[in-house]
Amino acid sequence: MHIVGAGPVGLLLTALLQPMEGVSVRLYEKRSDYTRTRMVTLAPYLVAESVESYCTDSIDEDSIGAIFDPDELVEGLAFRQSIPDDLMALLRGWTLGFCPLNTIERSISDLIDARGSSSVQRTPSVVTADEAIGMVDPGSILIDCTGSNSLLRDHLTLDGHDGAAAATNTLKVRLEYALVITFLYGQPYDCNEYCKYFKNVENPHYKFIPMVHRTHYDGSVSHVTGIVSITAEEFEAMPPRFDGGWLRRHHPDVARSMDRFIDKVKEETHGEVLGDLDIVRIPLDLYRARHATNRQWLTSGRSDHPFGRSPVILAGDSAIGSPYFQSISLGFECASYLAGLIARRDLAPEDMLDRYERFMYKQWLRVYMRSKMIKHNKDLFESIDHPLELLQKLHIY
Ligand SMILES: Cc1cc2nc3c(=O)[nH]c(=O)nc-3n(C[C@H](O)[C@H](O)[C@H](O)COP(=O)(O)OP(=O)(O)OC[C@H]3O[C@@H](n4cnc5c(N)ncnc54)[C@H](O)[C@@H]3O)c2cc1C
Repeated sequence: MHIVGAGPVGLLLTALLQPMEGVSVRLYEKRSDYTRTRMVTLAPYLVAESVESYCTDSIDEDSIGAIFDPDELVEGLAFRQSIPDDLMALLRGWTLGFCPLNTIERSISDLIDARGSSSVQRTPSVVTADEAIGMVDPGSILIDCTGSNSLLRDHLTLDGHDGAAAATNTLKVRLEYALVITFLYGQPYDCNEYCKYFKNVENPHYKFIPMVHRTHYDGSVSHVTGIVSITAEEFEAMPPRFDGGWLRRHHPDVARSMDRFIDKVKEETHGEVLGDLDIVRIPLDLYRARHATNRQWLTSGRSDHPFGRSPVILAGDSAIGSPYFQSISLGFECASYLAGLIARRDLAPEDMLDRYERFMYKQWLRVYMRSKMIKHNKDLFESIDHPLELLQKLHIY
């Protein structure tokens, strides 16, 4: 196996494949150290021990039941239950609270090294698309785990080859532009929909909305992440990252709304913001690879090109992503499903890719429905003080 990208998903996949007999992994990574400290959490469904607990989700429980066949849910559970104990213990820990992204990366990386097997070989290098394509030889599988700016995603379709019109393999839906504001708060603070409403009552525009499951008290401080929607023009005029002072100087209206919200949190819980605010401006995009594998190439009989000879697969953010979803958990779930398919020596490559594509399409349906619903609810919330605006956004049969 050639796995390009040792972020959380590439590492998990490596750790899953490492104990498999007859499998050797070459893992390529361009970064020399794991430095991303943003706090993340894993979704509990990832370590669910029964189909019932897997489906228990306040937002998309019904969708899961509608999209997946019962057999598929049972199969997914069996894949996850075959995850080695050392790895499962780590996953369980990460579903309980927040931890820095680089803790997840380092822990899996250390686990791979500590197992002491010779079946994983690490290569520290930046891999180019041509180099990756050159790795594909009969008997190998190339897995692209290079994240949202995937190395190979737009190389996977046959479109654009043989003089046909080039078409991107990336389907992208821009949901909104937003400021993601993160800060530490010296008291326990938890948020729900009532809190979001009442603390924003005096904010007709630029409502500050703590993100779903993104407040967490670790015993001494609360980690709070919230978003404020901004226009495309405001987005263009901002630097990618800045602090509270910059926001107050350049966008006083946005800053006032945010400060009003934070003041109300302080009134209620008598704490202080610790340190400065960390603010990034990002486009919130929902996207997927229309083809998460090179199935089209393999079935076309194009043996003159490496993609016509062996499987090439996208996993993690390289295949699918949503700003409102637990993307690491989604990537981990896809990685464990893929490892389960690779373990099935009875499956022909085309069948393996067929099954993976089907699985990824269903994951996409789930993520798409959930993300659009959250966005729609957010739009309604933005208009909650203006009944006519609100009514225009409601779609009532
Ligand atoms: C602000 C923010 C907050 C987030 N919070 C959460 C959260 O709470 N929960 C959650 O589940 N998700 C969260 N996410 C998303 C999460 O970080 C990603 O889903 C996750 O990191 C994706 O993992 P990955 O391994 O697929 O890709 P990445 O983490 O992007 O890893 C890709 C790896 O590939 C390497 N690479 C790339 N190109 C090459 C190349 N050409 N050659 C060699 N190596 C290469 C990179 O160096 C990197 O190590 C958040 C994201 C952001 C931006």
